[in-house]
Amino acid sequence: MTNINQQIILAKRPEGMPDQNTFKFVEKDVDNLEEGHILIKTLYVSVDPYMRGRMEDTESYVEPYQLNKVIDGGSIGEVVESKSDDFKQGDIVIGVWGWQTYYIANEKGVRKIDPSLAPITTHLGILGMTGLTAYFGLLDIGQPKEGETVVISGAAGAVGSVVGQIAKIKGARVVGIAGSDEKIAFLKDELSFDEGINYRTTQDLEADLKVACPHGVDVYFDNVGGKISDAVMTYLNRYARIPVCGAISAYNLNEVDMGPRVQTTLIKKSALMQGFTVGNYSERFNEGAQQLGAWLKDGKLKYRETIIKGFENIPTAFMNLFEGKNIGKLLVQVANREYSQ
Ligand code: NAP
Repeated sequence: MTNINQQIILAKRPEGMPDQNTFKFVEKDVDNLEEGHILIKTLYVSVDPYMRGRMEDTESYVEPYQLNKVIDGGSIGEVVESKSDDFKQGDIVIGVWGWQTYYIANEKGVRKIDPSLAPITTHLGILGMTGLTAYFGLLDIGQPKEGETVVISGAAGAVGSVVGQIAKIKGARVVGIAGSDEKIAFLKDELSFDEGINYRTTQDLEADLKVACPHGVDVYFDNVGGKISDAVMTYLNRYARIPVCGAISAYNLNEVDMGPRVQTTLIKKSALMQGFTVGNYSERFNEGAQQLGAWLKDGKLKYRETIIKGFENIPTAFMNLFEGKNIGKLLVQVANREYSQ
């Protein structure tokens, strides 16, 4: 019987917030398997804010998505048929094949993951791209020291929730900014952040920051940009470090995002502001994954996932990122495992 591969393609480039018309569902027969190849059934797909940038036809650190082509991104799947000596039916693999229900890979196109070490979904989150982003951005650029104050925006998301916990491991005072009381409770009660600020309900973010950071801000891990970052910048200490990880507040804007210019602040505070992408650290991914795995095993890191079920819900899940509907890593479960548990 021929398998049908459902795919989600980019139907048009969004202007502002993407909507259902940005995407189109199509179906194709799965090709016959050639020697040296494996057929993978998708189990989970990752939806990530950076994908919004790839929907624009502009130069960036990754290629733009092409119109009428599958939206690619991190996925986890199960090998359901193998013509490779390196893989067997039931192996769990991770790779970048994106929003489709089946994928044929050659032996080099995907990597096996060991389901006995940690739940497989963690490889798309805390042990995967978002965990590594937190690890390298905070430790390489932020360099938090014991007793310093670390402020994180987008704090209850996939990256932010890991950043805060690593900062705690390093002995810092940690303040998270996020968009709901449920998220603030998660940060303080489950992840032991010292303070949390709900930026959606606060009457005065600057005043709340002043109370939460009585000794100023030494590290500001910026996931969102915009007005939240403008407020944090007013409390920088001398020699503060600002890893600029993301600017999600600007991803759906059609106009240039203007705010206070930062040069004078950076000079006055001798502060370092550095953008980065996790790919900059690809040669050190093993180091990061091992350390994150060790902290997870020792109970020093916790994680939350928001898992939405159903291939048909992938576009909605993606759009949910911009409405703050996730706590921790947002994933879509596309299918259950058939051959391994
Ligand atoms: P995430 O934080 O799990 O999800 C996005 C969160 O952003 C939402 O839950 C929402 O939480 C917040 N948000 C959405 N719109 C916002 C707005 N207008 N203002 C303020 N907050 C807003 O996503 P993630 O994967 O961890 O990514 C976080 C950031 O890191 C993104 O900017 C992403 O592009 C960036 N990133 C960068 C790299 C890199 O290599 N540099 C790698 C991965 C991710 P609230 O309820 O708190 O608003």
